[in-house]
Amino acid sequence: ALPEGAMVMRVAPSPTGFMHIGTLYTGMITERLAHQSKGVFFVRIEDTDQKREVEGAVELILKSFEKYQVVVDEGPALSGDEKGNYGPYTQSRREGIYKTFVRSLLEQGKAYPCFCTTEELNEAHSIQEASKISTGYYGTWARCRNLSDEQVLQALDVGKTFGIRFRSEGNPEKRVAFVDMLKGERDLPENNQDVILLKSEGLPTYHFAHVVDDHLMGTTHVTRGDEWFSSVPVHLQLFEAMGWKAPQYGHLVPLQKIDGASRRKLSKRKDPEASISFYDEQGYPTAAVTEYLLNLANSDFEEWRKANPDKSDREFMLTLEKLGNTNGALLNFDKLNDISKTVVAHMPVDDVYGSALAWAKIHDVELAGVMEKEATYTKQILNIERQNGVSARKDIAKWSDVRHEVSYFFDEWFATEAPDFRGLIAASMEPAQAYAVVEKFLENYRAEDVKEDWLNKIRELCTALGYATNTKEFKKNPEAFKGSISQVTAVLRILLTGRTSSPDLYEVMQVLGMNRLRQRLSGAKSLI
Ligand code: GLU
Repeated sequence: ALPEGAMVMRVAPSPTGFMHIGTLYTGMITERLAHQSKGVFFVRIEDTDQKREVEGAVELILKSFEKYQVVVDEGPALSGDEKGNYGPYTQSRREGIYKTFVRSLLEQGKAYPCFCTTEELNEAHSIQEASKISTGYYGTWARCRNLSDEQVLQALDVGKTFGIRFRSEGNPEKRVAFVDMLKGERDLPENNQDVILLKSEGLPTYHFAHVVDDHLMGTTHVTRGDEWFSSVPVHLQLFEAMGWKAPQYGHLVPLQKIDGASRRKLSKRKDPEASISFYDEQGYPTAAVTEYLLNLANSDFEEWRKANPDKSDREFMLTLEKLGNTNGALLNFDKLNDISKTVVAHMPVDDVYGSALAWAKIHDVELAGVMEKEATYTKQILNIERQNGVSARKDIAKWSDVRHEVSYFFDEWFATEAPDFRGLIAASMEPAQAYAVVEKFLENYRAEDVKEDWLNKIRELCTALGYATNTKEFKKNPEAFKGSISQVTAVLRILLTGRTSSPDLYEVMQVLGMNRLRQRLSGAKSLI
């Protein structure tokens, strides 16, 4: 038996062959809530709508959950078998179960066969629209609702196809009140539609299937997409008709994005970032995507993370109340990148190297080759500023950024990047001055200098050449100097890296090593 307060929760994706980031989001939230309560999280595959099976679709869902550490207690497994005692967890394999329960509803008169054809239904729909009344199958429009047994038998005799409909006793003038776990107390009009329970081909609709399954599988709390909110009255009605206790429902707003001046739901068709394959291709660390989604769900996650930089994100307590407060979950890549940079900054260098290499092997084979051939050097590069803890470098958000951050350390790439040395340096000082800086620097630089000695030598160099040794001093009395130390280091940085910004220059020099350093600096005359 489960402990008091334990929640049994599930996700119920359809196997479409597309793994939506929203499915991961819902799965992650649901799994955490279930496990925080010492309950159970399971996966159910809702494949009753599928015209045909999409190869590998279930595998894609399970692999994605596995990759993002959404821990599944019960459901279909990658091995092909199932885990758990409440299966089958795939709806197409539960046909017999649904039919058993439909039979019982038929016997009680709570359901009836409907022989209406699609054409007849469409015709009724047009008439309803034209006369501006509610559309659907209800009241006098429910033509098969009161067929006599004889009429039913006759229709069956001539082989008419049929579905099974629910006989609704609801009155839309009345309202049904319920508590949504996220939205709080709500009420909606009662349902008067005689919804289809079983389609003519023998498979159930979502309405009926989820009622049967969530009852038999012991679901206590349902987290699902907002698009189901308006169906709550039907679902409560069905639970009641079955004589079962309904689970608590909570409806999640869909992930949105800013599009021009407005925000809209992520579109599977238009937005590459709707698919989780996008995050793989870009090389976002799984931990970063996880933290980002947790932050979308509960915006206080970020604060918690700051206060607990070394704790596992599993220790964060997700709450449904705060989920309800999120004003629509808005996908924001600045935020994701920010979170990801912090995640990468906190990773040990071997993990950074390993993950980046694994990504590169698939998405940037040339980079992977270099990383493997020059493993030690690459790790030294990636380790720059990594020991500093708080002030760790934050230049890598995703593994596709790695190439840009390591390329200039490799002579071949540095050469092909062909930076505009002259132009870049001109922004800091005259060529003649720059030669003097380089010459003096090379005279005194020793690879074995610790950072403090290195800095002192640069300061001496500044003084000797008429530059202020710090910016404050320079600002106080600009006329007394040719410039300031930052211009001096800029010259060295540009010549060594081809860029105006880089991680800590002392560390960059240490990693480049004496040979490369001399080679790059002594070429200055021909470059500027
Ligand atoms: N298959 C349904 C969907 O994808 C599941 C909804 C639910 O979780 O109940 O919308």
